[in-house]
Formats: sequence, C-alpha cells, structure tokens
Amino acid sequence: MEPKKQDTASALKDIISHAKEYGFVFPSSEIYDGLQAVYDYGQNGVELKNNLKNVWYKAMTMLNDNVVGLDAAIFMHPLTWKASGHVDSFNDPMIDNKDSKKRYRADTLLEERAAALEDEGKATEAKALMQAMAKGLDAGDLEAVRQLIIDQNIKCPVSGTANWTEVRQFNLMFSTQVGAVSEDASLIYLRPETAQGIFVNFLNVQKTGRMKVPFGIAQIGKAFRNEIVARNFIFRMREFEQMEMQFFVRPGTEMEWYNTWKETRMKFHQAIGLPADSLKFHDHDKLAHYANAAVDIEYKFPFGFKEMEGIHSRTDFDLKAHQELSKKKQQYFDPEINQNYIPYVVETSVGADRLFLAILCNAYTEETTGEGETLKQRVYLNIHPALAPTKVAVLPLVKKDGLAEKAQEITNQLKFAFNTTYDDGGAIGKRYTRQDLIGTPYCVVVDYQTMEDQTVTVRDRNTMTQERISIADLKEKLGYAVSMERIFEKLV
Ligand code: ATP
Repeated sequence: MEPKKQDTASALKDIISHAKEYGFVFPSSEIYDGLQAVYDYGQNGVELKNNLKNVWYKAMTMLNDNVVGLDAAIFMHPLTWKASGHVDSFNDPMIDNKDSKKRYRADTLLEERAAALEDEGKATEAKALMQAMAKGLDAGDLEAVRQLIIDQNIKCPVSGTANWTEVRQFNLMFSTQVGAVSEDASLIYLRPETAQGIFVNFLNVQKTGRMKVPFGIAQIGKAFRNEIVARNFIFRMREFEQMEMQFFVRPGTEMEWYNTWKETRMKFHQAIGLPADSLKFHDHDKLAHYANAAVDIEYKFPFGFKEMEGIHSRTDFDLKAHQELSKKKQQYFDPEINQNYIPYVVETSVGADRLFLAILCNAYTEETTGEGETLKQRVYLNIHPALAPTKVAVLPLVKKDGLAEKAQEITNQLKFAFNTTYDDGGAIGKRYTRQDLIGTPYCVVVDYQTMEDQTVTVRDRNTMTQERISIADLKEKLGYAVSMERIFEKLV
C-alpha cells in the first residue's frame, strides 16, 4: 500500500505534536507557558536545521565559484535602517478591539472578509473591497481603512463586537538601546533582515576577495520581526533565521540573472526532497518600491500554498541609498566595459525555519500495510538521508554473546564519518520504530551471522527492506547514501 500523506489542515496539529514529542521543536520557555511566536529547536531539530543550513550554504558557495560567504553582526548602525526604508515604512496597519483587547492586522481582517465574500459568490464585491483597502493604505489614509472595517461590520471573533480603536501603523522592528548610561544610550534595532549586512559589506568583500561582477554574497543569520499576529507554528515567528544571497550584476543584465536564480532555487528545493507538485512560483502582484521583478517560491503547507522563499530583483536601490546616507561611494569599476557603476542586485531569500517546516510536513508519513491480522500502521519521517538528524542506528539483535560489543565497535567506526547512534534498549521492532519516528534512514543490525561472516543487515526506513552487506563496505556505501553530494549532483 502506498504511504498515506496528510494534507488537511488538521495535519499541522499532528506535525506540531510530533515535532515536540520527538525533540524537533519546543515552545520557547515552556515552563513559563511559552512565549508566543518563539520556538526552540531540540536535539533532533537542531541537527535537521544545521543540515539544511549547511546544504544551502554549500550549494551557494561551493557550487558557485563567484559566490562567497559572510557572517555580519545582528546589530548595525541605526542609519542602515533609515537607508533601507525600514524605519519609515516597515509597517503593518493594526487595530485593537476595545472589548477583548485583542490586536489584529487591519489588512488581514479585510482580506479575510474579502475571502468570505468570494466564498459567498460575491467576487465583484470582494475585489472592490481589496481595491478600496489598497487605495487607503497607499495613500496612508488609515481612517478610510478603519471605515471599511466598520462598513463591512467586521466583528472581533473573541468579543463578538465591532468596538474598534483607530487603525495605527505598527513598525515591525524590535528596538533596544546601546550604551552603559541611559542618557547617552542610543536607539538601535535588531535586524529585520540579513540582507543589509551584505549590502554594507559589498565593497569590503569585493575588494578583499578581488571579486568581479557578477558575484554573490551568501549569509545565514537571525532576523527579528515584531509580527502583530503570529500563527502557523514556526511559519511566522518573531525570531527566525534567514538564508540570503545577494547577487551583484551589471545594470541591464538583472532580468537574465533573476531568471537563472529563479530556476536554480526551484531546483534546490526539489533536490532536497520537496515534490515538484508541492512547489510553485507566485509572481508578486504589487512590487515593493525597490524591486523591478519579484517572485515567491510557495510550498503547499497543510494550511495552503504559502511563501517559503522570495526572489527579488532589487535594482540599485539599497546600494544607492547607502551611498547617499553614508556619503561613501558604493561603485564598482568594471574593467570589461571600462565603466564605474552601482551594481544591480538579485536577491534570493529563504527562511530556514519555513524550509524546516516544509521538510517536516513533507516527511511526516502515516502508513498502513497488510490487512486483517497482518495489518500494521506506522509513522515515519521521510527526510532526505543527507538531511536526517541521525544517519545510521546500529542495533545488536540481542545484548549477549558479544553482539553488543560488535555493534559498539561498528558505531565507533562509523561515527567519525556521519551521525551514528547505538541502541540496545528493547525489542528490535520497537527500536526500528524509534528510528522511523525521527527519520533515521538506515538501521544496521548485528546478529549471530555477523559473528561468523562479518556481515550485517541494513534496513531501509522507507521500504523496510533489508540487505546483507559486509562490515568492511558499510562506511563507503552508507557514507555515499547519506552524503550531501547526492543533493549537489542534482544541482549542476
Ligand atoms: P511574509 O509575506 O510571509 O511576511 P515577507 O514577504 O515579509 O514574508 P521577506 O521579507 O521576503 O518575507 O523574507 C524572506 C523570507 O524570510 C520569507 O520568504 C520567509 O521564508 C522568511 N520569513 C519572513 N518573515 C518570517 C517570519 N516572521 N517567520 C519565519 N520566517 C520568516
């Protein structure tokens, strides 16, 4: 029987509890009842996330001669965020219900209303509502946005009333102060994106690395956004990680590079195991002020197709803004055409946590095999072997007659090459189940035959088939099967 994939909204609940129960993701500071939209990665989660970050970083830097890395600080000079436009316009419109004291995004309330109208077959009304909202937001007319909420008689789902405050713009940046003495301290921000750390280091890297345009800078790091409404588990968090690459190109060639990176990034997601029919491009209907082309790669989460990665052609907006505010030239001399210019930028930006969630959703498999008395149900995580937290579990069939010692010896041989664990606790079936639940692709079993001919059985997580192979071949065979090389081979 084919493995059964869950794709209903309730599947998210199963995934969240699986993630918690098996050490992937815990709510932050749970003993104090948690902190909304903040999560911690457990012993298996950190391995999976590190593997994802590694494969992304290596796919960027190792496979592309002209892409190098960077690790910029989270804190940056406050003017950075003035130049980037975040101080003035990184806002969401919010509204509070006076009775329930609950806060909402005004645009989300109206979008949900429009979706409901559409469901009722009132598409024209829905469209008109969205147009009126866009007009109000573009003009900064927040009273008009509030009036739409009133006119539509939108009620707070908690209090059931339409007793709304005015609509206010809410800046999503977290701020704090640097400096020991409060009077002298100055306001600084926790970065809301990692990209600006790349822009302000563009010339440092270009000059010290003798980089020639086109070239890229790739960086992984934390970003912080004070999201008004955080939902859908690790999909929308207040502290999250981004994997961003800014690719600097000669003006006029940006669309070519934009299309190249679009395809490259789509290929990447498929190479790490996300099925093609769960991924799609979604062109932005409305471009940000800095972009001349933008597309999202969406993944089919249990709550619908949603953005996982953004690919943006950002023109010279950022470098130009930094040049203006810092008064430092951000130009590149192109020896091929004998000209100075500010390069254009094509950005690829993917959330490590959203990618993690996509991998987890795709991997979570409930399977039923056999029928009648042989009917068996199991849950396993179908994670690409190169990404799996543990690659191999070595299991002695029984603890006596030297089998345990032999299994320990094999574990010690393999653990220098990849994550290997030893487990002798309980019946062999239970031990297989434990590994299936955390996505371990291979279980090596040491049995009595091992003691005679130095062979072991290797059980495959997905097919549950077993193959007998010589201990001497284990490291090489399994090493390749769990290597990132298998992903990279699909990318060239
Ligand atoms: P959204 O529309 O979902 O808020 P965005 O368009 O603001 O996302 P970008 O600014 O383009 O997102 O950020 C690039 C990537 O960073 C996103 O594609 C997403 O994977 C990730 N990301 C952004 N905000 C969050 C968040 N609050 N929690 C987790 N990941 C996030």
